[in-house]
This record gives sequence, structure tokens and C-alpha cells, in this order.
Amino acid sequence: MDRTSDSPATGLHERPALQRRGLMFILSSPSGAGKTTIARKLLAADPALALSVSATTRPMRPGEVDGRDYHFVTREKFDAMIDDSAFLEWAHVFGHSYGTPKSHIWAGLKEGQDFLFDIDWQGTQQLHQRAEADVVPVFILPPSIDELRRRLTARATDDPQVIEARMERARAEISHWHDYQYVVVNDDIDECYRQVRQILEAERLRRARQTGLVRFVRELTEDGNRA
Ligand code: 5GP
Repeated sequence: MDRTSDSPATGLHERPALQRRGLMFILSSPSGAGKTTIARKLLAADPALALSVSATTRPMRPGEVDGRDYHFVTREKFDAMIDDSAFLEWAHVFGHSYGTPKSHIWAGLKEGQDFLFDIDWQGTQQLHQRAEADVVPVFILPPSIDELRRRLTARATDDPQVIEARMERARAEISHWHDYQYVVVNDDIDECYRQVRQILEAERLRRARQTGLVRFVRELTEDGNRA
């Protein structure tokens, strides 16, 4: 993909967007904190952002589509992918295995493609170790434990024991909040979305990511010399 040719012009003077390196935008949260809603809104609003589709051994849920939500694979296939070093990171989460396939990610980043990752704290730590400069880790917190319980109860038809187990998992996930560079409290979904969007926009402007800057500034100063 060539972002120098087909990107929209910005500002009053027609000018193609500067070339830049893509980023890995990680959203983590306990289930019930609103991460899925935020992720869907981001993907719908932002064509420069693509979902990193994970592989998993967990069974498909109603409404999920293979290849869109996850690559649903057998345990044997997952283990073979580990042996082939096909994952950027992988982890066991709640009794199943999840991993980020490497293919496309490195090449995409180089071409300026941003990726959204819906992965847990273990995957975030691994990506951070492997590619710190490319990673933007964002953690979403629920506004209170009562509200989290309400959300987990509202969505579940399960018995209280199942809800308690979910609350326990949520507490465990929350305990990793300090591994994240950004933390957003989801009091209000629209406000939370706005804040997450702002993080993404600001991170795109980091100088180190704007690989086209050197040339752009050279041309600016050369123009200045001619004037
Ligand atoms: P679910 O089964 O509800 O879709 O996801 C369960 C958990 O696994 C979520 O916390 C999600 O963020 C995490 N997860 C999904 N894909 C990956 C992945 O590729 N790597 C890691 N480390 N976690 C993942």
C-alpha cells in the first residue's frame, strides 16, 4: 500500500500525507469493560486500522465468522504453528490457546498499515519485548467493580457461580493495568472512544514513525533557500 499517493490531502494546501511506519495498537481489558465496542467503533471509523486476526483453539461462538473474528484451528494445528515460529506472541487464556500470526504484520507495518490487537496482558508483554517501538498498549478499566458485575450479569444467562468466576478473571486481568502505557476508564462509551481515538491520532504523529519527515523537511528548507 502506498500512503504517499492515495491518502487524502490535508490542510489548506493540497499535500499528500507523509509516509510513516504503522503501529500496533493494543486494547486490553477485563471482559465487560467495553473493549469490544470500542474496537468495533475504531475499525468502522478508521480505514487505516486493520484488525490483527488471532488464531485460537477455542470453539466458535454463535455469530462468529472464521477468518474474520479468529482463525479457528485445532490444537494440532496450533502446536504446529508454534513449532514453525508462526506466532508473534501466543498465550493460554481461560483454558484455550490464542496467538497472533506473524504473516502480514511486519510487512504491513513497513507499508504504513496500523493494526488493532485485542489481546490479553500476556500477549501485550510479549509484543512489548519484541517490538517496543511499534507497540501502543492501551488498557480499558470499568468505572467500578459494581458496574462490572452489573455488565457481566446483564450479558450472561449463567448461574451466580459462573458470574463469580468471570469476576475473578476480571480482577486478575485488572491486576496487570500497570504494564500499559495508557489507561482509560470507561465511564461513558462515547467519551472512552473519543479518548482512545486521541491516543491513536497522537501516536501516529510521533516523529520516529513519520519516516517521510526527513525528505519533507529537506524539501522545505531547500524551498526556503531558493526563496
Ligand atoms: P475471547 O475468547 O473472549 O474472544 O477472548 C478471550 C481473551 O483472549 C481476551 O482477553 C482476548 O483479549 C484474548 N486474546 C484474543 N486473541 C489473543 C491473542 O492472539 N493473543 C493473546 N495473548 N490473547 C488473545
